[in-house]
Amino acid sequence: MRFIADLHIHSHFSRATAKNLNLENIYIAAQLKGITVVGTGDFTHPGWFAEIKEKLVPAEEGFFKLKDEIADKCDQQVPSACRGIVRFMLVSEISSIYKKDNKTRKIHNLVFFPAVDRAEKFNSKLDKIGNIKSDGRPILGLDARNLLEILLETSDDAFLIPAHIWTPWFSLLGSKSGFDSIEECFGDLSAYIFAVETGLSSDPAMNRQVSGLDGLTLVSNSDAHSPLKLGREANIFNTELSYSNIKSALETGDPKRFLGTFEFYPEEGKYHLDGHRKCDIRLWPEKTRKLNGICPVCDKPLTLGVLYRVGELADRPGATKKARNHPFYSIIPLVEILSEILKVGPGSKKVMGNYHALLDKLGPEISILNTLKIKTIETAGIPLLGEAIARMRRNEVEVLPGYDGEFGTIKIFDPHEREKLLGQKTLFVVPAFRPDNQKKTAP
Ligand SMILES: [Zn+2]
Ligand SMILES: [Zn+2]
Repeated sequence: MRFIADLHIHSHFSRATAKNLNLENIYIAAQLKGITVVGTGDFTHPGWFAEIKEKLVPAEEGFFKLKDEIADKCDQQVPSACRGIVRFMLVSEISSIYKKDNKTRKIHNLVFFPAVDRAEKFNSKLDKIGNIKSDGRPILGLDARNLLEILLETSDDAFLIPAHIWTPWFSLLGSKSGFDSIEECFGDLSAYIFAVETGLSSDPAMNRQVSGLDGLTLVSNSDAHSPLKLGREANIFNTELSYSNIKSALETGDPKRFLGTFEFYPEEGKYHLDGHRKCDIRLWPEKTRKLNGICPVCDKPLTLGVLYRVGELADRPGATKKARNHPFYSIIPLVEILSEILKVGPGSKKVMGNYHALLDKLGPEISILNTLKIKTIETAGIPLLGEAIARMRRNEVEVLPGYDGEFGTIKIFDPHEREKLLGQKTLFVVPAFRPDNQKKTAP
């Protein structure tokens, strides 16, 4: 079956996350988005691990589901058009900070485990190495290669995926504290790395300029710190539901079983271009090079973004047949599209009211964005929405790129055009969804 998986999220035990980021709300949000498989995140944290053990029960091989009595309550908050099954997979993100070859390295990796007892054993090993209690995403002074070794010794079926590999400060290939290749980081164990996460600020096309990534499957996840952010990037699989199917689809890159990814526009990511936020300096790599990487305002080194860093490691203009090329679809979060159409903030009551009414009528967000017919979207009665989504699908959008921790901004319509297209139509708020007790639809 075809399904969507978001394998990197966090819990309320991670720093700077929403208080309501619990298993119930993850379960609800997954359905609103149209996600079938979601990573638990943070299983190395004892508090979160206890919640996992209390609220989840085994489902298909290596997968878990919310206990029926909890799920039934949550379903009342999900419109019937969005209802579907949700499975959890044990995933955690580890931050490794260590010295290698006289340089400080800071790297984030995702670790995946097929069973609670294996994950428990892994946790107890990490507990001896550093503090896994202080943060849902623990910081350990552990070489990423050695982390991988511990993982492989704990379970044959566990695997590791380097997270958001281009982020300047905390990633495998990051400009500030990363490496130049997989091999430099993982050494003799490099063959066990079969996938990497591209992160919000890069897309597969950029990654395919680097031949060192040819043999790897490029995955995308939301790295959500609140329920609403789930699925802003995600993966599309076509397999039976199980941990080993996910693993083997990623390992082989089989295009019949791994169907590609949903992507943020990379320019919208926080670290696409170079610059200094405080100095209000935002630069394209070409200009940065002319300035020798030094900020013209404060004379300090600029934060080099993902585009710059990809350029440094790129050894060809784009993909070749040798690479694992999977399709990818650039999407914009529905609340942002509504925010542009309604001219109010994405978190406003007006946007949220319309967002929920849309899901109520049309079903999960990702299908609205990606697969639903434009004609059907238009029946929901929000002027310009069909046209906005059609343009997004054709990649006809303008983005002011992000830099130095500042998200980029997307524009689908220019203001004059917007008024013209809108004509006499008024932008009204459609009545928001009211919870009911309808039963779940079949998977
Ligand atoms: Zn991270
Ligand atoms: Zn500066």
